[in-house]
Amino acid sequence: MEPSPIFVCLQCKKYLCSSPRRCYWCGQDVCSACGASVRVCPGCLTGAFFIETHDKDELLASVRLPCRRQGCFYSSTCPRLRRHEEECPHRVKLCPLRRRLGCPWQGESKNQLVRHCQRDHPERVISANCHMFQCFKFKERMGSGVKDHYYCFFDAFNEFFHVYQCFDYVESLIKLKVCFNGDRRRTNKFTFEICFADPFVDEDRLVFQAACQLVKDQEFYYVDFLKVPFSAFLRYCIGTHLFYKITINFA
Ligand SMILES: [Zn+2]
Ligand SMILES: [Zn+2]
Ligand SMILES: [Zn+2]
Ligand SMILES: [Zn+2]
Repeated sequence: MEPSPIFVCLQCKKYLCSSPRRCYWCGQDVCSACGASVRVCPGCLTGAFFIETHDKDELLASVRLPCRRQGCFYSSTCPRLRRHEEECPHRVKLCPLRRRLGCPWQGESKNQLVRHCQRDHPERVISANCHMFQCFKFKERMGSGVKDHYYCFFDAFNEFFHVYQCFDYVESLIKLKVCFNGDRRRTNKFTFEICFADPFVDEDRLVFQAACQLVKDQEFYYVDFLKVPFSAFLRYCIGTHLFYKITINFA
């Protein structure tokens, strides 16, 4: 059973905590974390103008709602459930390559997932904190209207990271996210960057940076991407090819 959307953050789809933020324009609510970070209201797509609201606090604190993980019968009030769903024993780890490669693997822990990737997808695991990627014939693909996805892993700092890249030739941008597969409390220690450079001119580099996010177990968690428009780095192409480096940094 899906809970009523009034208990769920419009942006991240997690349960709302107390004092959510309300869009001034459309009156819909997001959680306080999203209220502080989104720039466009996910409800009405207007520039974000969120106001703290206590209208629902009593309701959020009194109504018991179900955990949305399959097979789990836990229920509680919103703020607690939000935490529970991340740590719910019924969460199942699925292989991140299940869609791309049809990998049927399932497991129970983040450590099992790491071992699976290293054993069964070693060609996708990069044992370093940075790597040069190339997109061959990038310029020729620019008018193609396709979306090329690429998923790989970085094994660095004794931790494991999921790196998702999408060359979106519809919107003409690269979408990128790096997710941390370790202890949630260490997530904010890591950032990543994508760097474009002119191989012939020293110090001519273009760098975009963002924070790593915690790996999410289930797809109902929406995840933000670092988005870089093609126009920003076109001049770094070599012929028709594009070369770029992705680095994970420890803060
Ligand atoms: Zn949220
Ligand atoms: Zn709105
Ligand atoms: Zn549960
Ligand atoms: Zn797999």
